[in-house]
Formats: sequence, structure tokens, C-alpha cells
Amino acid sequence: MTAKLDRQRLPALQATEDALFTERHPRSRELFERAGTHLLDGVPMNWMTRWASPFPLFVGDARGSRFTCVDGHEYVDFCLGDTGAMAGHAPPAAVKAIAEQAACGITTMLPTEDCIWVSAELSRRFGLPFWQVVLTATDANRNALRIARDITGRSKVLIFNWCYHGSVDEALATLRDDGSVGPRPGTVGPAVDPRLTTKVIEFNDIAALERALEPGDVACVLAEPALTNIGIVLPEPGYLDALRRLTRETGTLLVIDETHTICAGPGGCTGAWGLKPDMVTLGKAIGAGIPCAVYGFGQAVVDRVHEAWDYHATDVSGIGGTLAGNPLSLAAIRATLGEVLTEEAFAHTIPLSERFCDGVQAVIDEFELPWVVKRLGCRTEYWPCPVPPRNGGEADAAEDPELDRFMHLFSLNRGILMTPFHNMALMAPTTTADDVDRHTAVFREAVDALFR
Ligand code: PMP
Repeated sequence: MTAKLDRQRLPALQATEDALFTERHPRSRELFERAGTHLLDGVPMNWMTRWASPFPLFVGDARGSRFTCVDGHEYVDFCLGDTGAMAGHAPPAAVKAIAEQAACGITTMLPTEDCIWVSAELSRRFGLPFWQVVLTATDANRNALRIARDITGRSKVLIFNWCYHGSVDEALATLRDDGSVGPRPGTVGPAVDPRLTTKVIEFNDIAALERALEPGDVACVLAEPALTNIGIVLPEPGYLDALRRLTRETGTLLVIDETHTICAGPGGCTGAWGLKPDMVTLGKAIGAGIPCAVYGFGQAVVDRVHEAWDYHATDVSGIGGTLAGNPLSLAAIRATLGEVLTEEAFAHTIPLSERFCDGVQAVIDEFELPWVVKRLGCRTEYWPCPVPPRNGGEADAAEDPELDRFMHLFSLNRGILMTPFHNMALMAPTTTADDVDRHTAVFREAVDALFR
């Protein structure tokens, strides 16, 4: 018999965790109150209001897979800045390269030699010969979409329901109940009605993909090879082959966003699964947290770019940016890819992620929970539904914000930071088996409190 959650007990359990957090974090609370004087909602970036705690933790020191808050409590960090710190916090090799570069020039709008090594390494990992460097994954996606529209002469972008690709207008759209496209719920100030720019379909639905591409008005499909922003939704066998075949047949470019799926290996899913995209975008982790992102393209795209571009107007074309490709970003990427997020690092983090999964699965089995645990490379996640969702719509329907909040705060109060928005955990090269086992023990304790 599967376990059933007694929801009536949840508010009292939550109140206990809220009180425990408040009692243990007087200094964070004080700083949060002071920050409220001149920062909107007391935080420098609005997502920081989304943690499960009554107020956010203020961080004192973050190194490797752990950090300490200003009240002196230590945490195992499985959020890792929502992938920005996937290399571990302050990895010494990157810190050294960043400090050395910072001391001799941060931004010049001229290239430094590091760009040669970086582009060759990206090419080796992702199989695309040409690269550009920008500041965020959002920028990389925005630039890729512009290029796709420019060289195809088509206006539309196709995305998957409940995807996330950054604050990219064209990608902030979801399917409504009647099957039409609407602004993603909560989008602030959409530039235009997303139906003008965007087609949205469910992931893993080949027939829907065929229908959407058939009219020939889609410049590109912007896709994570496995969804990671509405839980992990893996592609079904043959789906990515169909995506490649149908995009090719309809003259649609395939842009693969590897920003999160770099967790699958050194070359992301593109490398691990032998994908052949026209363009790849990638940000967050590759500079150990220094703002930087990249996008790459194949020869065919480059040839069309050379035909289409007016190089005289390149500085105001909507591609690139003043600080993009700066020496500090490039030094950070070189050190991170060269010395931290290496093949050996993945040989350590992927087995740890399997261990994380096994630990969670053992608890699910023990308590007969109607939950699933999923994994992509060194990223793991559990989801409160009995079978893995096949697409974003199913995953969204299975979300349980009340339960989620409890699980997050319960873990935080016992020294475990999970990725907010869902119950996701990422392993860094510095994460240890002890860190993982600590999570398993706390997860079991939370489940015991809920289902006992
Ligand atoms: N692509 C993916 C797949 C992402 O998950 C995100 C952010 N979560 C982005 C792009 C945008 O990254 P950033 O906010 O650093 O621009």
C-alpha cells in the first residue's frame, strides 16, 4: 500500500520549521531587515525572495561544496548557485586565474590569448567549430535566436512547454489549457503577445513537433535536450533523433541549450549522446561563477552569418555587448574547463549522483512513497508523483508547492541546501560521499516526520 500524506499536519510541521529557522538565524534576520531599507524586498535580486525560509540566509563564506551563513551554521550546498557554482565554490585553480587576470586588466574590448584555448576546448567538447562569448546564458540564447531569425528569414521560435532559457522574451511562454500559447504565468511586462513570436509544444510529442514545423515559419527550436527547469524530464528513446530529423527536413535550426545539461558530462548531452545541433548555448557554470556564457555554431550557420551581416553596424546589431568576451571571463572559463570541470571531475560527480539517487530511492521504497527520483549526469531530483512526468505539462501538474516548501526548509534546518523551485541536487567536484549520505539521512527524517 502506498503511503498517503496527511495534509492537515503539514501547517503545524511547517510552523515548527519556520520557528526553528528564525531562532537559529538572528544575524541573517537583522541583515535582511537592514537590506530592506534600500533594496526592493530586501534582496539584490528578486529570486532571492523565493527560498523556503521566512527570510533568506545571508552567506558568510562559500568554499567547495559547503558554505557558512553569517550565524555560523555550515551547510552542504546541493544548489550550487542553481548551477552557477557547479565547479564548487571558489575552486582554487579558477580563483588563482581570476585574481591574476583581474590584477592586469578586466575589460578592454580587445581579445586576449585565452580566447584561442577556450574556443578550441569548446569545439572539442561540443563538436561545433565556431564560438562567441557573452555574459549570461540569457544573452547567449537571445543572440542565438537573433541569428536564427536573421539567417532563416523566419519569425518564429519553437520551445517546449515549461522550459526556461533565461529572461528571453520569446521563451517566456507556456501552453494554456485550451492549447493556445500565452505568456508564462508571472511574466513581468511581456514585450509583445508571445503568440507573435513563439510556438509552444509539449516535450516528447513527435506529432506535435511535426505539426508545428510543417508550415516552415520556425527559425529555430530552442531546446534543452532534457528539460531541467520543471523537474528533470528525460527524452524518450528516439525523440531527439526525430527532433533533429524534422528540424533538418523543414530548414529549421536546432539550438541546444546546455546551460544545465552540462551536468551530463564534459560536453553536456551534446557530447554524451552524440547530438548534432546547429548551435549550442551554455552559461552559468563554465567560469566558476564569473559572469560568462558562450554560444557556438557549425560551418553552415557561419557561412550564412557572413552573407547576412552588415559588419559596419555590428556594434548596434543586438548581438554581443560592451563587457562580453572580456579577459576576466575568458581567464575564468579557461581555468574552469581546463582544471575544474574536467573529465575526471565528472568521473567523480556522476557516481555520487547515482549514490544520491540510490539513497532517495531506498527511502521511497521503505515508506512506499508515490514519488520518483530522477537523474541526469551529476544532477538528481525527486518529484512527488508515482510515475516520471513525460513533459512539462505533466510535471507542472504534479508540483506540490506546500510539500516542497516543507522539504526545503526541513533540509535547510539540518544543514542541507537544495535548489529552490524544485527538489534538485547537483554534485560539485568537491562534493563527498559523506555529503550525499547526510542528505539521505535528512531526507529520511523529513519523510518520517511527514508519513510516520
Ligand atoms: N538556460 C537554462 C537552461 C537555464 O536554466 C537558465 C537559468 N536557470 C538560463 C538559460 C539563463 O541563465 P542566466 O539567468 O544565467 O542568464
